[in-house]
Formats: sequence, structure tokens, C-alpha cells
Amino acid sequence: MSSLKHPLAQKQIDITDNQGDEHVVTLTVIQADITTLPLDAIVNAANSSLLGGGGVDGAIHRAAGKELVEYCRTLDGCPTGDAKISPGFKLPAQYVIHTVGPVWHGGSQGEPELLASCYRNSIQLTVDNDITSIAFPAISTGVYGYPIEQATEIAIGSVIDSVKQAAQSGSAIEEVVFCCFSAGDAAIYQKKLETIKER
Ligand code: ADP
Repeated sequence: MSSLKHPLAQKQIDITDNQGDEHVVTLTVIQADITTLPLDAIVNAANSSLLGGGGVDGAIHRAAGKELVEYCRTLDGCPTGDAKISPGFKLPAQYVIHTVGPVWHGGSQGEPELLASCYRNSIQLTVDNDITSIAFPAISTGVYGYPIEQATEIAIGSVIDSVKQAAQSGSAIEEVVFCCFSAGDAAIYQKKLETIKER
């Protein structure tokens, strides 16, 4: 079950790793401000400078305090599709995983692969940092213009693939939260989570 209040939808993924051990990962959709979530990690839809911006990035930097930008200066930026980790400073979350989504240019410039790799690389960082719970915003769907329906399909599909892979490399992940800011986005995520086929 989710540790958060008012989940709109949930799906359990059952994974058997190479050693034959069972893992259960719960995927949850909520509508919330991601900066309020008391999870091990929240994900930031950052820009490649990692020095702050608008939207969810601005909200995370404001809530974490100025130590976050000072720390991010030491990370030397981040290419699109990749992810880097920092402490959460004043946030309730212990860590922030900063990932850089693609700007939407119509879909034929590698946007789907780059968006999927944001989710995959963020989940990969949970393995090295013993993270059991993580929340994602709807990466690239704000200022970067990625259409929400297509982005949601990639977000959920890539997370399912990635938690299965991560379980093979010793991930302790138990809960992945899709944190939507608007009721409209939450409704789209809810519907997709209820209907998506496991791959
Ligand atoms: P991008 O540049 O990757 O498009 P944005 O921050 O503009 O990033 O938007 C990404 C998503 O984050 C949008 O769905 C937006 O509504 C959402 N968002 C903005 N503020 C918050 C917040 N405080 N908590 C969760 N999601 C947020």
C-alpha cells in the first residue's frame, strides 16, 4: 500500500529476481505538490544547467533552500535523458534526483527515447542510494511541451521496465509515486495506470 494519503490509483508489480526472491513494487498516482512528499526521493524536472528554473524545478529549489543550488553547482550540469542526485536539504524528502527531459519538437527527434531514459536513469540511482520510495512529476509536460497522453504512456511503461531491471541489480525500491500537479493530468495518469499492459 502507499504511504501517502488519497491515492487516486494503484498497481502492484510482482517481480521475481535472478536469485528467485520476490519483490513487490507499488505504483501510485496522486495529485499533490511534490515538494511536500515525505519519501526517500523526489525527482526534479530540471534543465541541463541544474541551477534552477521555473515550474517544478523552481518549486523544489524554493522549498529545499539555497544550499540546493550551491550543491548543484558541483554536479557540472546534466545531459538530456540523464539523472544526477543531491541531498534534499530542507525538503521532507532525503534526496532530489535531477533529470533533464527532452523539449518536444514534434516527436521525431528522439523525444520518446530521451523521456524514457529520464525515468530509467532516475530509477537506476535508487539502486546505488538504497532508496525505497520515489516520486516523479510529469517530466517534460510543462514548459518543455511534451503532450501529456504520450508522456504518461512513456512514464508508466518506462517505470515498470526499469523497476523490473533494477530488482535484478539489488534495488530496494518498493513504491513509485506519479505526482500530478493538476487534476486533469492526474485523471490521465489514473486512466493509464488502470489500463496499461505490463510488458
Ligand atoms: P518541464 O520543463 O520538464 O516541462 P515543468 O516544471 O514546466 O517541467 O512541468 C513539468 C510538470 O510539473 C507539469 O506537469 C507541471 O504541472 C508540474 N509541476 C509544476 N509544479 C509542480 C509541483 N510543485 N509539484 C508537482 N508537479 C509540479
